[in-house]
Amino acid sequence: MTMLQARDPRTGQLDYSFAAASRDDIERATNRLRAAGQDWQKLGLEGRIARLTKLADVIGQHRNAIAERLCVDTGRRKIAGREVDGAIGAIRGWIAQSPHLLPDGWTEGRMNPAIRHAPQFVPYSLVGVISPWNFPLTLSMIDTIPALLAGCTVMIKASEVTPRFVEPLQAAIEDAGLKDVLTFVQGAGATGSDLIDHVDAICFTGSVATGRKVAAAAAGNMIPAFLELGGKDPLIILDTADIELASDAALRGSVLSTGQACQSIERIYVAKSIHDAFLKKLVEKAKAVRLNWPDIGAGEIGPIIFADQADILQRHIDDAVAKGARALTGGQVETHGGGRWLKPTVLTDVTHDMLVMREETFGPILPVMAFDTVDEAIQLANDTEFGLSAAVFAGTLEEAEHVGRQIEAGGVSLNDAALTALFHEAEKHSFKLSGMGGSRMGPAGFQRFLRRKALIANTGTPAPIGAFAEDAP
Ligand code: NAD
Repeated sequence: MTMLQARDPRTGQLDYSFAAASRDDIERATNRLRAAGQDWQKLGLEGRIARLTKLADVIGQHRNAIAERLCVDTGRRKIAGREVDGAIGAIRGWIAQSPHLLPDGWTEGRMNPAIRHAPQFVPYSLVGVISPWNFPLTLSMIDTIPALLAGCTVMIKASEVTPRFVEPLQAAIEDAGLKDVLTFVQGAGATGSDLIDHVDAICFTGSVATGRKVAAAAAGNMIPAFLELGGKDPLIILDTADIELASDAALRGSVLSTGQACQSIERIYVAKSIHDAFLKKLVEKAKAVRLNWPDIGAGEIGPIIFADQADILQRHIDDAVAKGARALTGGQVETHGGGRWLKPTVLTDVTHDMLVMREETFGPILPVMAFDTVDEAIQLANDTEFGLSAAVFAGTLEEAEHVGRQIEAGGVSLNDAALTALFHEAEKHSFKLSGMGGSRMGPAGFQRFLRRKALIANTGTPAPIGAFAEDAP
């Protein structure tokens, strides 16, 4: 049995041990899920809605136990509670929406009205979900809920960096009577890779580097891979923008959750005429952001969850400074009580030759660059191999929309930033290296777990072979 250890991000202590599931463990568990899956499909949507309503209620009863463990996993308390509440809200939201998402009935053919067709929606029997450490619970449940409602069974592998919340959440799943159709396995990359070999579709949230491996493994197994990967989200601020509002959006969009969010703003482009005033305001506000240390009950930003990420943040800052950038705030990863923190770091004099403008940083770093023309801003925003999301701030919605339509990214926030974290109703794809597969959000987030089967009926008479003879009229 392979034992793994997890680090507490507030203390740096490796104080939690857990066993990684072996390939045999996965085989046994997936056989059990597949067997139960038949009854799960027979329940129909209405039956599954009843069972998931119970799951939402039971997670509510287990809320504190789950949130407490998640708080240790992530070093932040308020967001841990919000993750649990968000999962309950997502279950209720999909329950309300899912009955309205599938067409029904027969459609007459265009070419030959005697031939009609009707759809049947066939769920994948078993869906695998692999999640990252930055929002451990949210990103374990985000695809799981619509997959279950669609009639799939689900096996989740949470990140080995944040494993503590799994036990109390699994207890809630058992109390809700759903353990035969929904289960977690614990482990690192090897367990994730074994999982892909046992499922009919894989939903993966994580880095581009791992996403490539997942895509290759899924292709080898001929299963669909839905990949939600990294980003390098730009924010463009036009000269008509209100500086007070734009700086609020820029700061929150960049440093919320310590910047450990895929939709975090990672590059800020500001019109030259307002650049200096904007930068002054941003620095003022960034300096006021507090670490939630030593008191977890105060402050805006928590520790860096994954220790190695702290090294990446420092490397990006040092590379930028070595190439001529200046840190106006923050700039140095700090160690407190064994955990690692970074205060919001506003960088100026940045160029696209710096790592901080090219690679995903995943931390509270705000590189700010001035632009002369709107076309230049759009060109800079699109000068990236990522295309997850973006934002545009302007004096009017029309101006912001005009620019937003020219950005190569799947979700563009207008007159705010990082709205894709708060609003899940709009369908969106991940562009470029940021992902692959159907939209996780909006109706497609449910529909993609159902294979389309066409029932095609001839209400006339079948054609004889002679109708196709070379010498037929
Ligand atoms: P990661 O790619 O290192 O790990 C993600 C998961 O993959 C973990 O559970 C890990 O154990 C597993 N894994 C590792 N190797 C594997 C393999 N060979 N086969 C199968 N599974 C394997 O990512 P991370 O560091 O945990 O998370 C941070 C990344 O996630 C960032 O790049 C961030 O942008 C991205 N992310 C994307 C979204 C989105 O919706 N687009 C949301 C959150 C995070």
